[in-house]
Amino acid sequence: MTTGGGSMRAAGSHFGAQGMHYLTVAMIVLTAALLWWHRYGMVRVLELSADSGHAIEARDDRGDGGISRAELARRDGLDLTCTLAKGAYAWPYCGYHILLGEGESGVDLSVYDRVTIELDHTGPGEHSLRGYIRNFERGFSTVADYRTQKVNEIEFTLPESGAITIPLGLYRSAAWWNSAQHVPLLRTGANIDNATAVELYTGSLSEMGTHRLRLKAVRFEGKWISERELALGLLGAWCVYGALWLSLGMIQYRHQLRREKARVATLTVINRALQLESRQLADQVIRDPLTGALNRQGLRDALVADEESGAHGQFDAVLFIDLDHFKTINDTWGHETGDQVLRQFAATAKAVIRDADKLVRWGGEEFLILCAGIGAGNAAALAQQLCDRLPLLAWPQGLHVTVSIGVADIAGTADIGAAIRRADAALYVAKRNGRNRVERATGEPAPA
Ligand code: GH3
Ligand code: MG
Ligand code: MG
Repeated sequence: MTTGGGSMRAAGSHFGAQGMHYLTVAMIVLTAALLWWHRYGMVRVLELSADSGHAIEARDDRGDGGISRAELARRDGLDLTCTLAKGAYAWPYCGYHILLGEGESGVDLSVYDRVTIELDHTGPGEHSLRGYIRNFERGFSTVADYRTQKVNEIEFTLPESGAITIPLGLYRSAAWWNSAQHVPLLRTGANIDNATAVELYTGSLSEMGTHRLRLKAVRFEGKWISERELALGLLGAWCVYGALWLSLGMIQYRHQLRREKARVATLTVINRALQLESRQLADQVIRDPLTGALNRQGLRDALVADEESGAHGQFDAVLFIDLDHFKTINDTWGHETGDQVLRQFAATAKAVIRDADKLVRWGGEEFLILCAGIGAGNAAALAQQLCDRLPLLAWPQGLHVTVSIGVADIAGTADIGAAIRRADAALYVAKRNGRNRVERATGEPAPA
């Protein structure tokens, strides 16, 4: 389960890293494509023409008390014959009225950037024109009175080519209209977000007489997304991408950290097991497996360590111990009971000696105790203490176990082997003298 989950996580983070590479490439390509498209395309168009289906009418100043006449002949185009004449109205005009909206709801022209007007104009004088965008202003425009709709105006002279492109930002809210409608100052700005009509009239410089106009098209053009919107959108997208990238990095880093920790933990466990194993192996080499006492190799190591430690000669006495009538125990109660007695004896001896002393199984039912810094005579006392304790213990099968011990001083001789032999000789004496007793090697003073 754990392995499966781990590999799934690993696969997930690997996929995540690759996924981020794809996403990075996609983001760069998308950004470049959007910038290119915005620069060279992404255009939206609103065309007003004879074919666009918009209601287009002729308008003149007769409603204002003037005598100019506009007549629209709808043939292949929008041909308008305009006879400008000065009547009672001070500013004679005639031209086109193109309906955009119905009632209160117009068209939002603020989404476009520019307007192109294509128009043929023949007639006297300068080809002065005036453009209006009527905007229904919520708050003070009414459907009943057309004049309450805001006048955004522009005045220009049509070039010879018959086409002109005007940035929509050049339209100005007509001052005369603002005055006439008593528009509050803060609402006197140009506004084309709810345009109900587009109008194109002769201008203030147009001469009286007959003008022939042929409107081909009024075309509003703009970008689907403004430069500002595009920049903000791209910035937002890159911010989201950055956040994603950071959090994915964090997740990956955490996974990696967890994997490293798990690996270190596993290695630590393995290392500890190996240390334990090697310690156990080392122990097996120097210890007797039955009693846990040192074996002869252990004795050698202890002596070498003693030599190398610099505290050379810390062992100053040796006890040679032999269990009395051990063969009888074996013969009477079996080998298993004999083993139990050996183990119990070794445990008792270990409890009696001090940490620095060494208990060695010399062979069979024979043990040595190397006494460290015990001082002259005290080794025999220690041996006696051990002898005295054994009868007090409960032994397997209710046995009465005793030992004989030979004691020899090491101090003053560099030859421990010789000391062991002397202790063995003393042990022999102890056996001969009746067992369950301690004898000192010859030539050594008896304890006080
Ligand atoms: P003594 O009092 O003179 O020492 O007599 P003893 O019977 O103790 O001496 P002996 O040397 O005749 O007998 C030692 C016996 O110890 C012989 C051997 O079978 C037995 N023995 C040696 N090693 C082991 C062992 O690891 N386990 C058991 N159960 N017996 C052992
Ligand atoms: Mg023996
Ligand atoms: Mg014996």
